[in-house]
Amino acid sequence: MNITLPDGSIRELEQGSTGLDLASSIGAGLAKAALAVTVNGIQKDLNDPINEDSKVSIITIDSDDGLEIMRHTLTAQVLARAVKNLFPGTKLAIGPTITDGFYYDFEFKKAISPEDLDSIEKEMKKIISSNSLITKKLNTKEEAIEIFKLEGEPYKESIINDSEQEDGFQLYYQDDFKFVDLCRGPHIPSLKHIGAFKLLKIAGAYWKGDSNNKMLTRIYGTAWKNEKDLSAYLDRIEEAEKRDHRKLGKEMNLFHFQEEAPGMVFWHPDGWTIYRLLESYMRSNLELCGYKEIKTPQVLDRKLWEASGHWDKYRENMFITEIDEEHANEKRVNALKPMNCPCHVQIYNQGLKSYRDLPLRLAEFGSCHRYEASGTMHGLMRVRGFTQDDGHIFCTEEQIESETGLFIELLSRIYKDLGFEKFDIKLSTRPEIRVGSDEVWDKAEDALESAIKNLGLPYKLEEGGGAFYGPKLDFVLTDAIGREWQCGTFQADFNLPERLDAEYVGEDGSKHRPVMIHRAILGSFERFIGVLIENYSGKLPFWLAPVQVAVATIISDADEYANEIITKLSEVGIRCNADLRNEKISYKVREHSSTKVPVIIALGKREQENRTVSIRRMDSDKTETYELEEAIKILSEENTRPN
Ligand code: ZN
Repeated sequence: MNITLPDGSIRELEQGSTGLDLASSIGAGLAKAALAVTVNGIQKDLNDPINEDSKVSIITIDSDDGLEIMRHTLTAQVLARAVKNLFPGTKLAIGPTITDGFYYDFEFKKAISPEDLDSIEKEMKKIISSNSLITKKLNTKEEAIEIFKLEGEPYKESIINDSEQEDGFQLYYQDDFKFVDLCRGPHIPSLKHIGAFKLLKIAGAYWKGDSNNKMLTRIYGTAWKNEKDLSAYLDRIEEAEKRDHRKLGKEMNLFHFQEEAPGMVFWHPDGWTIYRLLESYMRSNLELCGYKEIKTPQVLDRKLWEASGHWDKYRENMFITEIDEEHANEKRVNALKPMNCPCHVQIYNQGLKSYRDLPLRLAEFGSCHRYEASGTMHGLMRVRGFTQDDGHIFCTEEQIESETGLFIELLSRIYKDLGFEKFDIKLSTRPEIRVGSDEVWDKAEDALESAIKNLGLPYKLEEGGGAFYGPKLDFVLTDAIGREWQCGTFQADFNLPERLDAEYVGEDGSKHRPVMIHRAILGSFERFIGVLIENYSGKLPFWLAPVQVAVATIISDADEYANEIITKLSEVGIRCNADLRNEKISYKVREHSSTKVPVIIALGKREQENRTVSIRRMDSDKTETYELEEAIKILSEENTRPN
């Protein structure tokens, strides 16, 4: 049979050969490194026979797939076995991989504590040092149930019972056959391929995620190719924890959440200052680029959502309200808008448009609500109430390319201004199920692609990844510690103008449908502020800091001078506070540093007598002394917003 390799070359192997045979035929090094194979897009164990002409690629630890398979074996075969060895009678539930790691859910006879993780790790290392081979057996449903009954594993039994499969249950053993686990596979062929790992924490988790079920104990871990990658990862999570916007948000007194409004932000004065500064920065950039700002309603009749298609496709995520209209017998059903697009078409549809009105760029800082499941919310990063820096461009097919170019230019400038030099572009093209003719798709995809090329920017193609209504660009920025955040989007839409009957009179005097482009740069203000806080570890650029200068007195004789400085700084538009409390200066400095005030002015006897100021900047032990007027000038020059 013929095996096609990823580079297109073909190898002839006997029918029934395995991935290992294939790897050996290529080279001894590859055979040694091989963990599993992908056969016609499906991952298989290295020792599974291949029975027909296939496309095959060998998976090693150097790929994401390889890492994931290794992590999977580590949790299912090693962690589970170690726990059973140390805590006899423990019952095994499930052990999947997750981003960067894995977990396993157990029912312990007696609760364990985080201190037990050390001994579990030791036991895991002992198991790994056996270098056991991993063997797979296929069983019928009855056999598999019988085996786990004997093992005393009710959760495995219940997984098999719930399965619609009748046979072909894959059971994996280590070569001493003293441990068995049920698994869809694949697994690595031998424990010698396990890299470096660490158990991270324990948590409670309900069986099947259902709070009516028993609470199990979940052990989380991470695993990497080698010690170097592991320690880099551990550094990264430590750094990420330090920067966590929820922690900094509390320390800096920026916002909070509470039970009465899950996923909706209570902005405190300093947090709201950041929000307003960002909003006004965005507003002036949009004005420069020819956008007209609008504001549309929050609560709209279901009729509009039916017409837009949201009622059908998106209702689960919408907040619905019912209102008794005063003079109507009927209850009126409304929904809080989950997006602004249908409202923008309503504004477009006011008055007949001609080709001379296009492109029409409408922008709204649109407040939206989406019902997200409670377990998925995460500080500012995932919320139920948020404000998009939304905008819609109504244009002709011919204008898509130039609009794309203008948008990317604007977006790059804004990201740069806000501290993000690097971003990636993803171009997603037509999916199988779609509206619009191939001719229109050809045109739109070409337009997006050539706009990116004209700007000389690299991009990644995601074939088939577009929305059903049109191709799109996604913009993913990289933060200071290398994490990626998808923020910007630019989506052509051939569907909504049709559904909501938007049209314009063309040069030919007849009516046409405009293309509608949905676009956002920040995505949502809430999430972007979360990204900003984490990117800067709370130490925002001077122009964005909610309090820019704290004026702290060392002696009460300097109070009057402090107030004079506050007045002068305020006159040049600097946000500042006086700290006249009867506290030690070291205490005051520590407190203003923890709320990340970029500049602290300390005033003692000498400053007061000489009319000077000592400026102390965040993260610096040095103080610079200036004449008062000079200091005001320096700080005022620093306080410049980009654009
Ligand atoms: Zn939209």
